[in-house]
Amino acid sequence: MRDLLTFEEALACILERAQPLTSELVPLEHAVGRVVAEPARARADLPPFPSSAMDGFAVRGAETPGMLPISARVAAGSPSADPLEPGSAAAIATGGAIPDGADTIVPVEQATEEAGRVRITEPAREAAHIRPRGGDVREGEVVISAGVRLGPAQIGALAASGIAEVRCARRPRVCVLATGSELRAPGDTLEPGQIFESNRPMIGAVLTASGASVESLPVVRDDESAHRTAFERGLVADVLVSSGGVSMGPHDLVRQVAAELGVEEVFWGVAVKPGKPLSFGVRGETLVFGLPGNPVSSLVGALVFVRPALNALQDVADPGPSFQVGRTRVSLRRNAHRDEFVRARREATEDGVALEPVTGQESHMIVRAASAEALVHVPRGAGEIAAGGLVRYLDLA
Ligand code: AMP
Ligand code: MG
Repeated sequence: MRDLLTFEEALACILERAQPLTSELVPLEHAVGRVVAEPARARADLPPFPSSAMDGFAVRGAETPGMLPISARVAAGSPSADPLEPGSAAAIATGGAIPDGADTIVPVEQATEEAGRVRITEPAREAAHIRPRGGDVREGEVVISAGVRLGPAQIGALAASGIAEVRCARRPRVCVLATGSELRAPGDTLEPGQIFESNRPMIGAVLTASGASVESLPVVRDDESAHRTAFERGLVADVLVSSGGVSMGPHDLVRQVAAELGVEEVFWGVAVKPGKPLSFGVRGETLVFGLPGNPVSSLVGALVFVRPALNALQDVADPGPSFQVGRTRVSLRRNAHRDEFVRARREATEDGVALEPVTGQESHMIVRAASAEALVHVPRGAGEIAAGGLVRYLDLA
């Protein structure tokens, strides 16, 4: 048997060749899922002025408890109020600007308003319920660092800091194609010998979620000219991902046709299960992945190899794969030569995450795989990982 690259070696080969793409300014409403390319800095202090955290009364703490006339009313958005008259209270709404002279807020729940005056029975605590200017972030400070993929909280932080456009890595353009004369579109009628095509939409889903702009090419018959046409089209992208046709059979044409079109093969075959016959090459700036056709092999290859490459193209701080740690409920036999990726149910328990393999671990069983929330990494080696032992897993949910 020829020497296969290990999982780690293959990943390193890929990441080395996935160099960051250029960046572009992206309006905030289109920025979710994008990766920030340079630190985004606050355009103003946040909050921009000292403001009230409660509906209540702005007072001088030293003048409480007592009965104070209400000398002003401050709404959120009111221009800054006049200084607070000594011996009085300003009614103030959440988000209202604290008048000069006031040093604390008495919440409405702790005050009684009667005929233009407010009764405060307890001494007010110093600086209570006041949000200081710049308490969240100061003008010019970094709100989001480079290399961060934007989720809802980051979008909110950028908006609150006055940033309408953010510089992000451009989306990698990815072409996905599926090879196999047996493949029919879901929705078609199957003739004898045919199966429904599942890899293109599945790989596309992984890559779209990784920030790529995905183009799906038509299914490719197992003949050379069909392969050539499809690969020529796909090779203009930043990344070309094919499925099927990468093993040793007479109809496996992917590597040969890719080579004819100038793709330099970096490796073929990785000591992983499923997904061993994966091929990886480059043509110019284009990264070319040949994933094996079995759907679970394709899924695992997309998750553990292609997704990190897309992250690296977008200069994500840690391209992954981002493993988490849990405990296996059952013992897991290790494969002597290959790292295995086991589909498992995941349950949060008081002792952390518990993982239990699903039944049906064969590489064509995509429906079984769909009931798993985790992909457990079982490193090659002797013996087994005992029940209760620590393992790394990728979240599939
Ligand atoms: P291959 O890698 O082309 O030898 O395909 C291995 C197995 O995966 C065969 O049973 C194929 O029919 C199946 N297969 C290949 N491509 C796909 C696909 N896109 N969708 C579903 N099954 C596929
Ligand atoms: Mg095939």
